[in-house]
Formats: sequence, C-alpha cells, structure tokens
Amino acid sequence: MSYPPAWEIGEGEVQLSEIQIAERIKELGVAITRDYAGRKPHLICVLNGAFLFMADLCRQIHLPITVDFLAVSSYGMDTKTSGEVKLVKDLSLPLHDRDVILVEDIVDTGLTMTYLLHYLSGRNPATLEVAALLSKPSRRKVEVPVKYLGFTIPDAYVYGYGLDREYFDRNIPFISSVKSH
Ligand code: IMP
Repeated sequence: MSYPPAWEIGEGEVQLSEIQIAERIKELGVAITRDYAGRKPHLICVLNGAFLFMADLCRQIHLPITVDFLAVSSYGMDTKTSGEVKLVKDLSLPLHDRDVILVEDIVDTGLTMTYLLHYLSGRNPATLEVAALLSKPSRRKVEVPVKYLGFTIPDAYVYGYGLDREYFDRNIPFISSVKSH
C-alpha cells in the first residue's frame, strides 16, 4: 500500500481503490474523447468535491479542452442533505455555444445537480452533459441525467478522493465509507 497505514484503520471498508478509480476514469476519458471528437469540450468542475476527479478526468480526454470552476455550498459538518444549494463561486468564462460537461463528485439526492443544470442551461451552452464520479441512486429525490458515470454505490457516506469527512480526508487517494444515512 502506498498510503500511510493510519488511513487503513477507518470506520468503514475501502470501497474503491486508487487503481479502480484510475481505471474507471480512463474509460470515461475514452468515451468523452470519442463522443466529442472534432469538438472542444468545456469542463466545469463543481468545487470542492470534484477537484481531484476533474484533474484526473481532464488528463484522460485527448481533445483540446477548456476548464472552469464553480462552487456550491456543501454539507459542512452535517452529513445530511439540506436541499438548499447556494452558489458561492461563479464561473469565469461564458458558456454560449460551448459543449459543456459538468464535472461533479457525487449525485446523492440530485438536488444540487438539478439546480446546477438549470443554472447552466440559462447561459445557453450548445450542449450540456454531466460527468459524475459516484451516484447513490437509492437516495434520489429528483432524477438527473448523468451521461458519464464512474460508479454506482449504496447508501453510505463516502469520503476520500476529493470528498470530505467533516472538512478533512479529501486527500486520501481512495474512497471509503463511514455509515448509512
Ligand atoms: P445532492 O444535492 O444531495 O445530490 O448532493 C450532492 C452533493 O452533496 C455532492 O456534490 C457532495 O458535495 C455532497 N455529498 C453527497 N453525498 C456525499 C457523500 O457520501 N460524501 C461526501 N459528500 C457527499
């Protein structure tokens, strides 16, 4: 194992290893490269949770791309969804006529994604698709279209690989789970 032993002693079991994550992201990159051939996709990373996924995914897309970032309010110390979404950092670049791919860490209830898709649609992109590393379908309150999905996972709070556990653990290179909601 390449990470410190302390990280192996968690409350939950490691669900997704570094290798599994890397292999799946490579596959997503292949699919995006194929689907967007001849175009210049514009990737929008939803901060903070998607920052590592974005960094790895964009390097598996073999096309000219542009990137931008936005941030929405997170759970903070509360692991339950509030249903409220607040934009705390806006985009820097216009979306008009761009082939936009929204890059999200995890779709849980779907409320955040619904808000973001509505918000981005209003900026008139040519196309708008979603790439999400994780999805918890059993938690969904609203259906959202995820064209490029990494993994479907059961109802558990996950952390690592960009996802936080009470603000920490975003730098753990694998994904592990804490407990059910
Ligand atoms: P939703 O609006 O309920 O779909 O929640 C989406 C956001 O909640 C994600 O972008 C994450 O920031 C956060 N989130 C949901 N589930 C988890 C989890 O298991 N671990 C860490 N963050 C989560």
